[in-house]
Amino acid sequence: MTDTDTDTQTDTGPAADAGTGILAGEQRMLIDGELRHTGSGALFDVVHPGNEQVIGQATDGTVADMEQAIGAARRAFDTGRWATDVEFRHHCLMQLHAALDRHKERLRRIVVSEVGCPVSVTGSQVEDPIDEVRHWAQYGLDFAYLQDTGVHKAVMGTARRTLQFDPVGVVGAITPWNVPLYLNIAESTPALMAGNTVVLKPAQLTPWSGTELGRIVAEETDIPAGVFNVVCSNANEVGAALSADPRVDMVTFTGSTATGRAILAAAAPTVKKTMMELGGKSAHVVLDDAKLEKCLPMAAMVACVMSGQACIMASRILLPRSRYDEGIDILRAAMEATPVGDPWDPGVMQGPQISETQRQKVLGLVASGIESGARLVTGGGIPENLPVGYFTQPTLLADVDPDSRIAQEEIFGPVLTVIPYDTDDEAVAIANNSIYGLSGEVSSADPDRAFGIARRLRTGNVTVNGRSHFGITSPFGGTKQSGLGRRNGDEGFREYLELKTIGHPG
Ligand code: ADP
Repeated sequence: MTDTDTDTQTDTGPAADAGTGILAGEQRMLIDGELRHTGSGALFDVVHPGNEQVIGQATDGTVADMEQAIGAARRAFDTGRWATDVEFRHHCLMQLHAALDRHKERLRRIVVSEVGCPVSVTGSQVEDPIDEVRHWAQYGLDFAYLQDTGVHKAVMGTARRTLQFDPVGVVGAITPWNVPLYLNIAESTPALMAGNTVVLKPAQLTPWSGTELGRIVAEETDIPAGVFNVVCSNANEVGAALSADPRVDMVTFTGSTATGRAILAAAAPTVKKTMMELGGKSAHVVLDDAKLEKCLPMAAMVACVMSGQACIMASRILLPRSRYDEGIDILRAAMEATPVGDPWDPGVMQGPQISETQRQKVLGLVASGIESGARLVTGGGIPENLPVGYFTQPTLLADVDPDSRIAQEEIFGPVLTVIPYDTDDEAVAIANNSIYGLSGEVSSADPDRAFGIARRLRTGNVTVNGRSHFGITSPFGGTKQSGLGRRNGDEGFREYLELKTIGHPG
């Protein structure tokens, strides 16, 4: 756990592959094929949320660095072979997949070190994104970039119309800190495989999940200079520069709705294509015939495993009034049984919040909920046995007013808010009473009844009776202020393509 490794050039042998222990990541950015520090040499600190210690640094890139990276991506797109040679792209992404797989344990340690997520739940942070690289390499190889739609009636007789799918161009990818390696890969690799060049701007709190990716691309793949760039920085202006630059054709962003709005505004003057995966306030509609002892412990676990720092988490639990007390008891027991603690402990399910600022935001929202009349059933503070590290108690609030801040704002903490309802129609109305529309869940002993409710939720995704909507082959994204566009599935690949219709004789 104290094995802080500052040798960022290579893995450090068996110790580095042990799968546990804080590890400092790559400090340098990747710009135009070169791994380098910013000109001034300025660095910013990376903190392990589990012990509040500075565990290393990353280079503090500037707007000038970002401009260079965009220039390199522009040149690589306009003049290189990347945009036109799909077999070469496949070869490079398969190399990337193999390299990431070789460094899997190092990457796991980096993710736990900078995010503080429990090592026991790193599958979705590490293995899943590595698998995605192979998925997109194959998907993009097989994709039909020219599609004949047959002969159509036209002004001058008839026209055969062929659709051509082209890469969009230079893609700016701006990512958050909650699942950084996953999102760096999920935003970059379908874009790359579709023939775009990419400038990745990782979040300030988790730069290494980006810089490590940059190092692996530079040292272990044939991806040409400029095709993939990583610019890390402690300043929001560097991401803002990426979203405004006229040389950038598309911005893909995952993060808060507030930042999404700022990026959309910055992208508007040059009418960039945008893909946005923003906040959520998903509801879990528990119908009156549901097996509470099955669905509610699962709901509590989902709320805690990422310390609630997941946009798709169902944070509003809608319980039928007829089974309200029974449901609250089950939820309370499950929240209180969650093992919270050192993320390196394989028995732990909930680690710390990412930072003190985030923890204070969570505790502030809980306090506002109590002020607005909610009943604190359990939690609401800092665990007494964990005074160091940004830990928060699993928290359950009942009798929540559906219009109050805690029912409307994303908390991003291990907090469940419970709202009672009387009829199915009322449950649907409460679930849809949100500016967000990312995800949702329905539980019932009658799958058809649950499916009917799922169809009425105004969200991009719904899970019925624990059957997850989420996976690489199925489109994922939000309605309303939860986002624009879809990731994953065929739709997710096409987001990174422009469509040209060619009318021609034949
Ligand atoms: P948080 O505030 O919780 O860190 P954000 O959604 O603001 O989450 O941040 C996600 C990503 O957006 C980070 O990479 C951050 O640097 C970047 N970012 C923040 N503000 C801006 C902005 N105005 N323009 C572009 N990117 C930004």
